[in-house]
Amino acid sequence: MALYTFKGGVHPHDGKEFSKDMPIMDLKPGKELVYLLSQHIGAPAKPCVAKGDRVLAGQKIAEAGGFVSAPIHASVSGTVKAIEKRKNAVGDYVDAIVVTNDEAYEQVPEEAPLSLDDLDRDTILARIREAGVVGMGGAGFPTHVKLSPKAPEKIEYVLVNGAECEPYLTSDYRCMLEYPEQIVEGLKCILKLFDNAEGVICIENNKPEAIKVMEEAVKGEKRIRVAVMMTKYPEGAERCMIDAITGRKVNSKMLPADVGCVVDNIDTVIAIQEAVIQGKPLTRRIFTITGDAVKNPRNYAVPVGMSYQEIIDDAGGFKSQPEKLISGGPMMGFALYDLDIPVTKTSGAITCFLKDVVSEAKETPCINCGRCVRGCPARLMPFKLCDYAEHGDMEKFDEAYGLECVECGSCSFSCPAKRPLAANIKAMRRTLMASKRK
Ligand code: SF4
Ligand code: SF4
Repeated sequence: MALYTFKGGVHPHDGKEFSKDMPIMDLKPGKELVYLLSQHIGAPAKPCVAKGDRVLAGQKIAEAGGFVSAPIHASVSGTVKAIEKRKNAVGDYVDAIVVTNDEAYEQVPEEAPLSLDDLDRDTILARIREAGVVGMGGAGFPTHVKLSPKAPEKIEYVLVNGAECEPYLTSDYRCMLEYPEQIVEGLKCILKLFDNAEGVICIENNKPEAIKVMEEAVKGEKRIRVAVMMTKYPEGAERCMIDAITGRKVNSKMLPADVGCVVDNIDTVIAIQEAVIQGKPLTRRIFTITGDAVKNPRNYAVPVGMSYQEIIDDAGGFKSQPEKLISGGPMMGFALYDLDIPVTKTSGAITCFLKDVVSEAKETPCINCGRCVRGCPARLMPFKLCDYAEHGDMEKFDEAYGLECVECGSCSFSCPAKRPLAANIKAMRRTLMASKRK
């Protein structure tokens, strides 16, 4: 069978053996939950509770701050302790609602489950919006906006991203094994918005068990199929996946909808099913804690608002002090310097390493080997872009299509000279984007 793939990419050690066989466990919330008001792209949510209010699990505590925004719901019952600034994963202090958990777990009254046959387009979108569903693959784009393109009749593919190409992470894999029916029903909710689309569940061929389970789950579904992709990083990057499955190209000025595609990750599709069919708001996310420094690597269903430290404690803590902590995986994640930060809708993992091999590596001059070019999925010249970034030459960086970088890190991974290509390119790309916005 021909495998779907794209040009470029790399093959890092996948490290999934730490947690791939660990079933998803419910994690009991701690004493204090912190809900950041900006945990999605767009306007921050606006609090609709005040200090001292009692709240129930599943209750809306912050309204969407605009069309491109999302409401936030409490994951526990308790009392609003404060509305104040709290630290986020990148170290900024941002507005947050702090709730003291009363450990009663009293829920807002549950809605009766609905049948998909009874739901029209407007109701589906309204339920997704009201439930606060956002892209949980990391971007945090409000899902009701993504699912409202200008011309829905032109959408031909709804791609469910089950590639999980990022090394070490296993939460999507576990979801496919444990919640296949929910994934298929969530996808059917999306397909109800796009009459001319087929649903494609995209999985890399290093996950044969997930492929088997999902193929079984889609049997008899006329508009849904499973597509098996070649195992290669960054197969799960949105543009690479669209290219691999459809052969269509997306650049930095386009949206997937411009080439007839919508892409949602596995956990988002589950959240859509819960919102549309079960009427449940998004108050938890599936999370991997992994790496050689963790005593008990695991996959958890984590209540939004819990701290990273509480997750590590539940996993038994560290074997010994790790040199490197990463929010996310080693290729696209970022270094963490503080664990007293809350889980948001877009947090997916903590990877903990005993050794910081990246910082230990000594940088040497470029040997013009071209490996970074061959590994780049965006067909760029990373060694040149890095030079322009190091010299602060924004014009040349722009002319060399620096904005087309998808920040995947494949160039750094490929480089025998250990040049910090991706970090420099990413920094210059952010500067260039900010300057274009002005
Ligand atoms: S230049 Fe950007 S897109 Fe290309 S390999 Fe490096 S990080 Fe990835
Ligand atoms: S991979 Fe490193 S050494 Fe090779 S061309 Fe690129 S920057 Fe130079």
